[in-house]
Amino acid sequence: MKSYCYFCDKDVEYIVKEEEVHEKLKGVEISYIAKIPYCSECRREIYVAELDDDNIRKAHEKYRKKLNEEVNHIIGFS
Ligand SMILES: [Zn+2]
Repeated sequence: MKSYCYFCDKDVEYIVKEEEVHEKLKGVEISYIAKIPYCSECRREIYVAELDDDNIRKAHEKYRKKLNEEVNHIIGFS
């Protein structure tokens, strides 16, 4: 797996780590396990489009779930 590292200014091998991310999405606090790519040479976080897409998808999934839970709570289900 290779991707461009902004710090090394070249394509590098990268390591993917799973990390719990806490985020606020449209005013709703969510947490999810994100896949974060790190450059194997300088060990800094880099940007990989596919992983970023995946993380955003996960964040939105959590957001929808949390919103549903809150709605059910208000209506009295759950
Ligand atoms: Zn690097």
